[in-house]
Amino acid sequence: MDNDTLTQRDLKVLWHPCTQMRDHENLPLIPIRRGQGVWLEDFEGKRYLDAISSWWVNLFGHANPRINAAIEDQLRNLEHMILAGFTHEPVIRLSERLIGIAPQGLAHCFYASDGSAALEIALKMSFHYWQNCGENKRKRFISLANSYHGETLGALSVGDVALYKETYRPLLFEAITVKSPDCYFRESGESWENYSTRAFAEMEQALERHADETCAVVVEPLVQCAGSMRMYDPVYLKLLRQACDKHRVHLIADEIAVGFGRTGTMFACEQASVSPDFLCLGKGLTGGYLPLSVCLSREEIYQAFYADYTARKAFLHSHSYTGNPLSCRAALATLDIFDDDDVIERNKDLAVRLAQAAAPLAEHPHVAEVRQTGMILAIEMVKDKTTREPFPWQERRGLEVYRYALDQGLLLRPVGDVIYFMPPYVITPEEIDWLTKVAREGIERAGT
Ligand SMILES: *Cc1c(COP(=O)(O)O)cnc(C)c1O
Repeated sequence: MDNDTLTQRDLKVLWHPCTQMRDHENLPLIPIRRGQGVWLEDFEGKRYLDAISSWWVNLFGHANPRINAAIEDQLRNLEHMILAGFTHEPVIRLSERLIGIAPQGLAHCFYASDGSAALEIALKMSFHYWQNCGENKRKRFISLANSYHGETLGALSVGDVALYKETYRPLLFEAITVKSPDCYFRESGESWENYSTRAFAEMEQALERHADETCAVVVEPLVQCAGSMRMYDPVYLKLLRQACDKHRVHLIADEIAVGFGRTGTMFACEQASVSPDFLCLGKGLTGGYLPLSVCLSREEIYQAFYADYTARKAFLHSHSYTGNPLSCRAALATLDIFDDDDVIERNKDLAVRLAQAAAPLAEHPHVAEVRQTGMILAIEMVKDKTTREPFPWQERRGLEVYRYALDQGLLLRPVGDVIYFMPPYVITPEEIDWLTKVAREGIERAGT
């Protein structure tokens, strides 16, 4: 078996995610034979450092012995079963653990498989809560410019990345979109805190105007990942929590990408000391092993659905693989690693190393900004450093960096012209230095 044979077979029968398939006429598709730690290996023995954690899901490396063992053990007992009318120990233990570590007040876990589905659950639950409370005017959602919440129609409706959304607009419901606290747009010399505070004025206005027709505000806490890894200050979440309380509107925190230590704390909301009414988790939840997502909600929300069957208040939503036992065991093993290895604390050193290694790039004439929140570091490439004029998108500079890095054995997947690192937490300081060096060379070569 070699790369070419597999590639040819693949292209006959597959359709890959988020890809213009014609690109593969000259962009190699890479079949992977195995993974080990931060490394992926193809069928010719070439290795690639997975600097983006396989689309932000992997936390403790590929083929992690501890997660493998947990799944193997579960496999001997129970692979899957219906979660309606029945239950199993892994899903109970996982729910207890999640409620134990999540921001205060989140009391019930509702499971799905993908992040988008967790978002749909939060949107439907919030809307349904208000229905159950007799507040029938509430049908709208407020979300941030440049936000991303997934690809299903509801999640896409509250998202705002034109590349993914525009074509489907006629199918979507209309969300109220307000200015993002995205600190890329701060004045020179202005602090993140100041800019994010100023940006909140629009949210306050939207809430004043629309609160009585609004179910919830939905945000990605601290980092808009698919929206070019744009970042903002925790103060915005503090102000938002206060305003949601004042205007009696739910707050949905989509921590699908930023949860599980990505921003430097277990959950990004912790940095603002706020608790959302709904918390959506996915991606890293199983350490990148199996599809599992969850929507946590407050007791008060659960209680609004708890009634006689004939009151017709139940949340009659389900997914086939909801609460899958194998996924739950992978998630439990992942949480064990966080505890046993003191991961959040150890990541602080890795984050410092990332910052140091990438710092010189800030001076590069084609780099507008190097920004970082915890274990996410992003480099914004532009045509003109002073005016921040972007490269014409048709040039696909990011793709050039992608190609160069691949040649060197590094897997990056820039969003447009933004190169970012979101590595598994088992990366070594030396590997961080190396990947930064390769990215730098790629940025220097792009366009030459
Ligand atoms: C990836 C992502 C989603 C969607 O999750 P899927 O598992 O891809 O459906 C939702 N919200 C955020 C913030 C994400 O990064």
